Amino acid sequence: MSDTVALAGFLPQEICAALDIRPDFRGKQIFSWIAKGAQSFDEMTNLPLALRTSLAQKAVVRSAAAERVFSDDDGSVKLQIRLRDNRFIETVLLTDAAGRQTVCVSCQTGCPMRCAFCRTGQLGSGRNLWAAEIVEQFLIMEKLRGTLDNIVFMGMGEPMLNLDAVCQAIRVLTSPEGRALSARRITVSTSGVIDGIYALADSGLQVRLAVSLTTADPVLRAELMPVARTNPLPELRRAISYFTEKTKKRCTLEAALFSQVNTDKKSTAALIDFARGLDVHINLIPWNPVEGLPFAPPSRRESESVLHELACAGITATLRMKRGSGVNGACGQLGTVN
Ligand code: SAH
Ligand code: SF4
Repeated sequence: MSDTVALAGFLPQEICAALDIRPDFRGKQIFSWIAKGAQSFDEMTNLPLALRTSLAQKAVVRSAAAERVFSDDDGSVKLQIRLRDNRFIETVLLTDAAGRQTVCVSCQTGCPMRCAFCRTGQLGSGRNLWAAEIVEQFLIMEKLRGTLDNIVFMGMGEPMLNLDAVCQAIRVLTSPEGRALSARRITVSTSGVIDGIYALADSGLQVRLAVSLTTADPVLRAELMPVARTNPLPELRRAISYFTEKTKKRCTLEAALFSQVNTDKKSTAALIDFARGLDVHINLIPWNPVEGLPFAPPSRRESESVLHELACAGITATLRMKRGSGVNGACGQLGTVN
């Protein structure tokens, strides 16, 4: 087998095929060990020693490793992870007030979408991660911090541009023979790639969807998010509606807020028009500063007025607490220069 693909991204039958082993239960044993955090064949003590030795010559269990750990006073952790080709990605753990642990994983080493307000977007295109590299972020963080409750694809990159690997990683993490994470605990966030939303809805994976709307003013959106130039708002709205009807799951609309850009009454009215009639919850995210970018976080008054107007219009919304910013691990602050 090629040493560019690690077993952490495979399902049991794929492990058997990749290693050319029989019977099938060996694939299940190896799969289960990997889900429990094993990093080498040596740890798989229910495999015959001769088999462990021969497998170690054919494949690796993991392909990535934590290079540096940054801890914030608020309990957040950011990992800088080195991939096998010596590129770096970042993975963040956020803990909420109830103590639930959410890992925010990356799916690309940069991001070609180039949203004007995002640090990862400033890096530009990177490469797609393999499914193994996505699964490994979860396993590395779980080893460090104990059982993780949720996973969000809100790290570096645009999941819809690497949907095959994202879906494969989800199949691995939700498999009842492995980590058995509930799909309800997984959220895929997109900047608004319409084809990807339909494909995810039709995948049968039953995960949650978040759409980074930012603003429902088409001119401003096209300025802030180049994706909007080819994925217009009315079609995006139809795709969200399709997703929620198909999966029966409420979608989250994310809106990063910038002072004096998208917090005025006209912007909020556009957001209300977009959200009305959709099964959505709006998550307002005060902009996390990124050096060199020409935005400012909204004042408390600006954020609260948006929240208040949404509430008056009967749209459910929350203002996300700032977490992880002490380690530059908050939304939109990820991006190790490769
Ligand atoms: N590429 C995907 C997922 C990663 S970005 C997407 O765009 O949805 C995760 C979230 O962070 C998005 O909602 C994005 O709009 C938001 N974001 C990006 N930069 C930000 C910043 N500097 N401050 C606050 N939120 C930001
Ligand atoms: Fe990419 Fe998301 Fe950042 Fe936009 S916000 S540049 S899509 S990571």
